[in-house]
Amino acid sequence: MKKKDKKNKKHQNNKQSYPNFMKMIEERNFDDFISSFRDFHPTNVCQCAFIYTYKPQEKLSIDEDAVFVYDNKIWFVRVEEIIKIVINGEEAGFIKGRIYLQKQDVLQLHEKIQECTDDDLFLTEQTKWFFSRELKQKILVYNLNDIIYNNVDSKPGSYYTRSEFNTESQMFLTPIEEWATECVCKKLFDNSLGYLQCDRCERWIHNDCSGLSQEVLENMGDLNFNCSICVGEMKIEKIKQKQVDDKKQKTGVSTNNDKENKENQIVEENLQIQKQDRKPLLTKKLLDQNPYRKQILNLMNFKKPTQKMKSK
Ligand SMILES: [Zn+2]
Ligand SMILES: [Zn+2]
Repeated sequence: MKKKDKKNKKHQNNKQSYPNFMKMIEERNFDDFISSFRDFHPTNVCQCAFIYTYKPQEKLSIDEDAVFVYDNKIWFVRVEEIIKIVINGEEAGFIKGRIYLQKQDVLQLHEKIQECTDDDLFLTEQTKWFFSRELKQKILVYNLNDIIYNNVDSKPGSYYTRSEFNTESQMFLTPIEEWATECVCKKLFDNSLGYLQCDRCERWIHNDCSGLSQEVLENMGDLNFNCSICVGEMKIEKIKQKQVDDKKQKTGVSTNNDKENKENQIVEENLQIQKQDRKPLLTKKLLDQNPYRKQILNLMNFKKPTQKMKSK
């Protein structure tokens, strides 16, 4: 009994002894350092919402992204925690963040990753502490889908993300098969390349895959552009329409004794009339024959196509 008490007392003494904070910092054991320093000097530890970067008036806040340099390596980080500590009268800043991986870190996992750019970042679940002095610069990381589908304009020098990555399971949270490709060539979307938007399906097509010469591309202006998929689809639609038209002509000539078919024909004729009613007064054929074609064309209200070029 006595022995046990003595042991407990010794343990308590150890717990109360002043920790070697400098050793903890040297070993970059920041989690232990911050929690034990807070126990001894609670008023010297400040949890912050932001920290000033080296640029004048620029703040780096929680959930923003930054580049750190430590151990001769560049670290891309999503800021999770900012702590300021006053040690021996001097202020020191500590920043904890979730680590982003780059293309070369995951290159071995899938052949498709070769199509990623050097601006691609993959946020992981792993965290790391840095000294605020290791902060190099604040960066912007955009979700690539926002740029493609929500017309978010990215600033030059920004980074992109297609998916988060779990280092434990070695899995992308968005499977590679679901990463945006857009162009007919099925290569991963690359925001650094020039793209042209199809007016029909709104797909972004590489300038190089558009089949248009450099001269045409430079002088596109408001010209209509359709991708090869849409051109193919429109051809098929045209053939189908022709088949329907031919069939109609045939059934119109042949005598029809069946009552049901006659009724169908009447319904079809009614639909045809309704459709004709909706047609514009001047069809293309009439316009071509009209000597005042140019004037009429100018008077007609043409839809102005939207900006089509997308480039960095
Ligand atoms: Zn392409
Ligand atoms: Zn298209």
